[in-house]
Amino acid sequence: MYRLKNADYDAYLVGGGVRDLLLGKHPKDFDIVTNAQPEEIRQLFGNCRLIGRRFRLAHVHFGNEVIEVATFRAGHNEDEASAHHNQDGMILRDNIFGTIEEDAWRRDFSVNALYYNINDFSVIDYTGGLKDLEQRRFRIIGDPEVRFREDPVRMLRAVRLAGKLGFVIEEETDKAIHQMVVSLQAVSSSRLYEEVLKLFLTGHAIVTFELLCNYGLFEQLFPGSDGIFEKKDPNIPLSMLLKGLENTDKRVADGKPVVPAFLFAVILWNNLQTYFEYNCSIGRSPFDAFQSASRKAIEKQLSDISIPRRITTQVRDVWSMQLRLENRKGKRPFRTVDHPRFRAAYDFLLLREEAGEQLQELCDWWTKFQDVDEELKYTMIRSLRNVSKSTSTKKRKRGTKKHTNKSSVASEN
Ligand code: ATP
Ligand code: MG
Repeated sequence: MYRLKNADYDAYLVGGGVRDLLLGKHPKDFDIVTNAQPEEIRQLFGNCRLIGRRFRLAHVHFGNEVIEVATFRAGHNEDEASAHHNQDGMILRDNIFGTIEEDAWRRDFSVNALYYNINDFSVIDYTGGLKDLEQRRFRIIGDPEVRFREDPVRMLRAVRLAGKLGFVIEEETDKAIHQMVVSLQAVSSSRLYEEVLKLFLTGHAIVTFELLCNYGLFEQLFPGSDGIFEKKDPNIPLSMLLKGLENTDKRVADGKPVVPAFLFAVILWNNLQTYFEYNCSIGRSPFDAFQSASRKAIEKQLSDISIPRRITTQVRDVWSMQLRLENRKGKRPFRTVDHPRFRAAYDFLLLREEAGEQLQELCDWWTKFQDVDEELKYTMIRSLRNVSKSTSTKKRKRGTKKHTNKSSVASEN
């Protein structure tokens, strides 16, 4: 900001950076806006790259940090903007340079449109963001319906950011989201993938999930997921999802890595079960039924959220490892433990158990197996022969009644 200022440009910190600093939180990233144009920004910073075709903006690199530097943009003016919207009112082009005030009005929420001014260390507020911040209220700027239509992802941003900050969503904003959930269908599946990662992998998955459900947005994102919300007691699928999200939040809080594949494996597990049951009911072998259900659960989801192929491969690995974990004959357990997806699959198994599936013996066995020396491992495998057949899943009947076997997977043979 000082380098821009010394070159006689205006420069402000804006967006989540200002919002979070005012709330005493640590901002995730910093966004700067300026009246310098992208080429001019580049000339000032050696460590700068211009990105984006739709909006040209500058990424200025400082060590590992990237600071996004954008030129003020206009576009909220209805007449002028109408030329850049499609028939549904969605924004197509949004790259006209403007003044700071125009820039403020085209931002999404009032608390995201505050500008920190280094000239006098003041905060500039055109949209009533300071008052909303004080009242811990998340309010969309302008006419809610128009703004959500322009970019339906703003509904997800509202939920994610209000959830993370513990803000209430202001009444008109709230009403508009309830009315407009379906418009999420107009958003590209690749953008939704990026948003879903932000919704669930940034440490506030539980509260975000509750808000998404409250608005019916979760069903928009995951249309096959209604089974999770069926009234039943115990509701293993829901409990599994909640525990999975809780674990994710905890890992983020502890600074541990979280992976998209595990998240999708958890969210789509119930869809797989539904297809699996159906496949069994039409007489397919459990193994076939499972593999085909796993393919289908992914395939169906891809029309809404384009999960990259390398991730879906991992998801299916975690799932099919659930079968391998049940098979503990001979040398198999050794191969299973060496599988690159073993850790995730084992965590997934524990999660199923925690959610209420009858898997205590299997979980304990694998927990111990990883821990003991080779000789004891062989002893563990041998002693399984003595385990009563009733605890083994191998003899489970195909296609048993709904819900009773919903949470179990097929045996490999
Ligand atoms: P965080 O970085 O904590 O997730 P943020 O509000 O900073 O939250 P960013 O994605 O970094 O979110 O965006 C920076 C700023 O850009 C926002 O604060 C907002 O002013 C503006 N912005 C982002 N997305 C949109 C959008 N879809 N429509 C309008 N303005 C947006
Ligand atoms: Mg940000």
